[in-house]
Amino acid sequence: MKYNFCGNSGLQLPEISLGLWHNFGDVDSFEMATSMILHAFESGITHFDLANNYGPPPGSAETNFGKILAKDLKGHRDELIISSKAGHLMWDGPYGDGGSRKYIMASIDQSLRRTGLEYFDIFYSHRYDPQTPVEETMQALVDIVRQGKALYVGISKYPPEKLIQAYNILKSQHVPCLIYQDKYSMLVREPENEHMDINEKYGVGFIAFSPLAQGVLTNKYLNGIPETSRAHKSHGFLQESEITPEVIKKVKALNDLAGQRGQTLAEMALAWLLHNKHVTSVIVGTSSLNQLKDNLKATDNSHFTGEELALIEMILA
Ligand code: NDP
Repeated sequence: MKYNFCGNSGLQLPEISLGLWHNFGDVDSFEMATSMILHAFESGITHFDLANNYGPPPGSAETNFGKILAKDLKGHRDELIISSKAGHLMWDGPYGDGGSRKYIMASIDQSLRRTGLEYFDIFYSHRYDPQTPVEETMQALVDIVRQGKALYVGISKYPPEKLIQAYNILKSQHVPCLIYQDKYSMLVREPENEHMDINEKYGVGFIAFSPLAQGVLTNKYLNGIPETSRAHKSHGFLQESEITPEVIKKVKALNDLAGQRGQTLAEMALAWLLHNKHVTSVIVGTSSLNQLKDNLKATDNSHFTGEELALIEMILA
């Protein structure tokens, strides 16, 4: 595994991190969840990404991760970077969603209880909430660090002007933002517009979620929608309607190029993200050990020739 320093901080993150959004809930196989986490750790994946609502049911990914940690990774806490988040709907009523201090403070306590952890390494505001002043949400994050419930803070899915405001508040309180998390893949390029430059200016790291576009950037959907796929599952976030003939045409062309490079498409799609100097790490989700093993190979070759990069842009245009 290769490790990159996260922004201007002294913290190194693995190029490949593992996310528990899907595949680690109570609806999934606990045995498979355990073997993926243990294989990840043995392969140098030190960073595991959670959120309060991961499951289903919401909260179950944190509970399951806590069980695996207690049973199989006991004694390894100081070798792990574990993150969680609050921001999306978690419980009924006005205090279980958004960016209020009330919600964030209650949610981190619940997440600590579910995982059995004493602290998170990184705690995120999961999304920008237009109904809460950014000052309030940032103050809650600062206080979480001061209370010892998290070592670093992160931000996810903020519009550029709110991100700058957030970074300035955190900096003024001497709890600089460690990391920014957003959707980024060959098929979703928005962070390139402004976010990456803002991160560089403020010395904040960038971690990409859904780097394989939830599985679309693999060979999985080349010949239809398999029954075991996320697009087919009723609780999966990927909609069948997103897998259009136009998308598959691009995916087929990318798959051919990956073959010429001696990689699978998943490996090439991850390598292409890691080739970008703004990217600290990519968070993959996996539903099997083979997928995880495949994705780990991405770090073997993240070099692209000028011609390859141009061809990729042409295919994606
Ligand atoms: P990916 O884009 O990596 O999609 C993962 C899915 O792709 C897997 O479940 C699997 O689908 C398929 N897949 C993965 N590897 C392979 C492979 N080698 N070959 C074939 N298929 C493969 O990431 P996710 O969308 O799962 O997101 C990753 C993480 O990012 C989350 O777990 C979470 O931690 C974070 N995240 C954060 C968000 C935020 O708001 N901050 C939002 C969303 C995610 P299948 O199940 O069909 O086999």
